[in-house]
Amino acid sequence: MLIVPESAIADLMTADESFTAVEAVFAAMSRGDAYNFPVIREAIGHADALYGFKSGFDRAGLNLGLKSGGYWPGNEARGLTNHQSTVFLFDADTGQCRAVVGGNLLTALRTAAASAVSIAHLARPDAKVLGMIGAGHQSVFQMRAAVRQRSFEKVVGWNYHPEMLSRLADCAAELGLPFEAASLEELGAQSDVIISITSSQAPSLMDAHVAPGTHIACMGTDTKGKQEVEAAILARATVFTDEVAQSITIGEAQHAVGQGLIAETDVNEIGAVINGTHPGRTSDEEITLFDGTGVGLQDLAVASAVVERAVAAGVAIEVAF
Ligand code: NAD
Repeated sequence: MLIVPESAIADLMTADESFTAVEAVFAAMSRGDAYNFPVIREAIGHADALYGFKSGFDRAGLNLGLKSGGYWPGNEARGLTNHQSTVFLFDADTGQCRAVVGGNLLTALRTAAASAVSIAHLARPDAKVLGMIGAGHQSVFQMRAAVRQRSFEKVVGWNYHPEMLSRLADCAAELGLPFEAASLEELGAQSDVIISITSSQAPSLMDAHVAPGTHIACMGTDTKGKQEVEAAILARATVFTDEVAQSITIGEAQHAVGQGLIAETDVNEIGAVINGTHPGRTSDEEITLFDGTGVGLQDLAVASAVVERAVAAGVAIEVAF
């Protein structure tokens, strides 16, 4: 069995490799070659922690396994990351444990790769302004992956806690792009692509803010009750997702479907666009929205790619198990 520790991931995995792995598994899901198992998520009644598993099997990539992880709110005070994730990969032929891989950085990379895949396949080719809603831990990974997909000339940002906006400004500077803090009205009017990655329970981006032709990647809503954008936007947009079942229950579409504004059949798999069985965007005026809920198969895809790279680089730790 191989171990790839968290500390080794940064030197092994890039945004581009994460993109390739996630795009391939979204395509496999839509072909019916890969499927996610039901998600387990429990409040364990200790340390205020939420703990769970996301798992699945990709017959095309022969990736079988799970990501175990959760949220420990007291970790920061101990100098640890609040979100803790570990990926376990199993041999699809024998069921033996193939690898244990640190999953913290990989979670950020695979989440950023998902919105980047949506931008690559759904944003207007001439997109120039990237709007960022959210300035938390995930936001900079999102920005770094997004700017690789279009020739963005500017980043505009809004955050519920304005004091956190310097994180976006610093990241834009690192990428050589000008940054402007904006109101939601200004952000919506200027942006060709909007990424929303917050832990909000109520919509920030409203329908009236969004200009025709925008692509929106809603990446923060991954639980029942969370919401980042007004449900009416989903009624106006063509809606795509990683997995329809998650989108309508724990994703952004839970609200639009719950309010009867759209039906389950209005939510399309991004994998269908990748595979060419859905046309994706069909006009410059169309609003496209990607509801990125986060699936276990994304974790397995990037973890498997990391194991390959770790073996090639001679840094995978082999243990008899
Ligand atoms: P974080 O705690 O570092 O940052 C939270 C962000 O949400 C900050 O920008 C904060 O200002 C904002 N926020 C908090 N309360 C708000 C409110 N009431 N209204 C609007 N904004 C508010 O979190 P993070 O690690 O950056 O994660 C952001 C979100 O992304 C979380 O909800 C997390 O669960 C989700 N997430 C989704 C996936 C996925 O695959 N879709 C993967 C990882 C994380």
